[in-house]
Amino acid sequence: MSRSATATIHLDALRANLARIRGLAGNAKVMAVVKADAYGHGLERCARAFADADAFGVASIADGLRLRAAGHGQRIVVLSGPDAASDLAEMRRLNLEAVIHHDSQLAMLEADRGSPPLRVWLKLDTGMHRLGFAAERAGELHARLASMPSVDPDIVLMTHFASSDEFDNDFTARQTQRFLDATRGLPGERSLSNSAAVLGWPQALGDWVRVGGLLYGLSVAQDKTGADSGFAAAMTLSTRLVAIHRIARGERIGYGSTYECEEDMPIGVAAIGYGDRYPRSAPSGTPVRVGVAQAAIVGRVSMDLLTLDLRMAPNARVGDTVTLWGPLLPVETIARHAGTISYELTCGVTRRVLFAEDGR
Ligand SMILES: *Cc1c(COP(=O)(O)O)cnc(C)c1O
Repeated sequence: MSRSATATIHLDALRANLARIRGLAGNAKVMAVVKADAYGHGLERCARAFADADAFGVASIADGLRLRAAGHGQRIVVLSGPDAASDLAEMRRLNLEAVIHHDSQLAMLEADRGSPPLRVWLKLDTGMHRLGFAAERAGELHARLASMPSVDPDIVLMTHFASSDEFDNDFTARQTQRFLDATRGLPGERSLSNSAAVLGWPQALGDWVRVGGLLYGLSVAQDKTGADSGFAAAMTLSTRLVAIHRIARGERIGYGSTYECEEDMPIGVAAIGYGDRYPRSAPSGTPVRVGVAQAAIVGRVSMDLLTLDLRMAPNARVGDTVTLWGPLLPVETIARHAGTISYELTCGVTRRVLFAEDGR
C-alpha cells in the first residue's frame, strides 16, 4: 500500500503573497526568506515562485548552493554568516553574502586575503539577544569592516525584532529607536522588519524587508491567520480515509484509551500521523475536514494514523480525502490546538509525505 499523505503546494498563492508584500513594503526591497526548505514548502519550487524577489535569505551555504544550481542570480544572504574560515571561499565562489554578527567572524574576515571582497550585512542586537553585536558598537564595527580589503565597503545594517507580532507591545518601537540611534550618520542600507513587522510596524520598513512566514500565508500573531491579513495559505496537507467503524457508546479509542465514545458513533481512520509530523500534541477536538464536511480528532494521534469523530460527516466513505490543514482550515487553527505555531507545523512535514504542486 502506498501512503496517501500529501502536501500540495499552491504556487499561485506563493506568487500572490509576494505581490501583496510588495504592496505593503512600499519602496523597500524584499528579501524572500527560504530557510528550512522554504518553511517546509520546498526550496526550489518556492524560489521559482519568488523569482522576482530582490534577494533570498537562507540559513546555510548549502541552501545558497541549491539556489545557484537552480539558476537564481539575485543576491543571496546567509543569515547566520560563516562558521569557519573555509566558508569564506565557498561564499565567494557562490557569490553569497554574509550576515556578520559576532567577533569570531570579524577575526576570520580580518585574517582573510580572498577576493573579490565579500558583501556583508552587519547585524546589531537591539534587544532580542540572540545574534548580533551590541548596537552601541555600530560605528566602530562599520569602520573596521569598511577598512578590510576582504570586505565590500557597501555594508547593509540590520537588526531583528523579538516581539513584532505583538502589535500592542512597544518593544518593537524601542528596538527601532535603538537601531536608529546606534546607526545615525552611518552610510548604507537598513533592514529591520520580518513578516509581522511589515504588517504591524510600517515605520520600520527601512530599505529591505526580510519576509518568510507571510510569503507562505502563515501568521504568528496571536489568534490571527495569514488569511486575516489577506495572505493565501500555500500548503494543503491531506490524506485519505482508510477505515470507518461504528463504535458503541462507552468504548474507548486509540492508544491510552483517552477518548470515550459518548454515544454509538462512526469513527474514521485517516492515513497520517506524527511520523508525517502531524502533531501528536493535537488533542481530541482538533478540527479536520473529510471531503467538505467537518470532523474532529478523537484519541491520540499515532505514528501512521489518526482517528476521527465522523458524526458531522455522515456521508463519509473509505477513500475520501481528509484535509488536515489548507486554505479552508487554517494551519494556525491546528497550531493553536496543538500548542505551537504554524511555522513549526509546515517546517516539520516529513519527507515521507508526497509533495505535489498546484498551479504553475
Ligand atoms: C527567519 C528570519 C526572518 C523571517 O522571519 P518571518 O517571521 O518568517 O518573516 C527575517 N530575518 C531573519 C534574520 C530571520 O532569521
